[in-house]
Amino acid sequence: MSTVKTLIGQAVDNLADDLEELSHRIHANPELGYQEVKAAGWLADFLAAQGFAVERGVAGVETAFRATIDNGPGPTIAIMCEYDALPAIGHACGHNVIAAAGAGAGAALARVRATLPRGRILVVGTPAEEGGGGKVRLIQAGVFESVDAAMMVHGWDRWIGHQDLLGIVRVGFEFTGKAAHAAADPWEGVNALDAVIQTFNNVSMLRQQIRPDARIHGIVTNGGAAANIIPEAASALFYVRAAKLDYMWELHGRVLACAEGAAQATGCSLKVVKNENPYEPMKRNETLLGAFRANLTGLGAVESPEVRDRLGSSDVGNVSQVIPAIQPLVKIAPDGTPIHSRAFEAAAAGPLAREGMLIAAKSMAMTTFDLLDDPALVAKAKQEFEARR
Ligand SMILES: [Zn+2]
Ligand SMILES: [Zn+2]
Repeated sequence: MSTVKTLIGQAVDNLADDLEELSHRIHANPELGYQEVKAAGWLADFLAAQGFAVERGVAGVETAFRATIDNGPGPTIAIMCEYDALPAIGHACGHNVIAAAGAGAGAALARVRATLPRGRILVVGTPAEEGGGGKVRLIQAGVFESVDAAMMVHGWDRWIGHQDLLGIVRVGFEFTGKAAHAAADPWEGVNALDAVIQTFNNVSMLRQQIRPDARIHGIVTNGGAAANIIPEAASALFYVRAAKLDYMWELHGRVLACAEGAAQATGCSLKVVKNENPYEPMKRNETLLGAFRANLTGLGAVESPEVRDRLGSSDVGNVSQVIPAIQPLVKIAPDGTPIHSRAFEAAAAGPLAREGMLIAAKSMAMTTFDLLDDPALVAKAKQEFEARR
């Protein structure tokens, strides 16, 4: 291992108790997306104390931040932190560990700054991953425009370098018909609930022809006011998920057609309510993964095979569609512990979480060093990114 990497490892070890304390503090104070005032403040304070120039409320998002170490012209590498919690079950997704690992990687690099090659190191605080799309807002505001490569980790029950994420787009349908007495004057009515039911029937038939990794699931959000009134308004909400971006949008178009056909068939008018923050699938980058894996293995972690089912969605997928990015999974819980469970919430403040967080912090800091040290590696990651378009 190079001298600088040895120093990085020592720096993380020296910070270990502080990082665990930070992780536990965030874990004990769970905050929902866009309300992570305490967590974002603690992380920003910590990074400022380590020598980062910290911008709070970046991109007009109060709980986002960008911490920068500018070591002169060279590559710009971003390490991302998440810190939002879930309703009712707190840090059952372990974002406190993501936060501490990212801050720890940044702090370790700050401590060896004098020995680092030229370039910029960013630690980016990205709020509201659990549905709020914080990273989408940061992308739209240009936070990642000058970044060459980005990385973060996510807690899991084993070590896995890459895991696919499904893209997800949410779409609402509001049908408007005409009210009438359902027994006395039904022929005077235009039934908006029929349009909703017809939409579900159309989607059910469509589902038979879709690829096995795609998911379409919906609920009725308004089914009418009373059984003796032909419903004049009815609505539904659908989630459309797929592993490939073009296929996700293709399916989205076909689900729209299901609703349009239902509107046509029933004589209702249709308003489509589009979601502004679709989550995109994770675009793989073997170049970055290879560098991360070499560091991870060197630290003694043993990687498990990729999981092909159990796929979720995250806004880090959106980041991976605009720049080379990775999100390796870190073992912070006993094998078989499902995420978003009370057991995972407990594990996220346990001994495996400390161990995983420290190895993740070292691996990210060492990978950042590799990228700063070898601009050809950055160029290769970008070439791979372009080739996968
Ligand atoms: Zn989650
Ligand atoms: Zn999560």
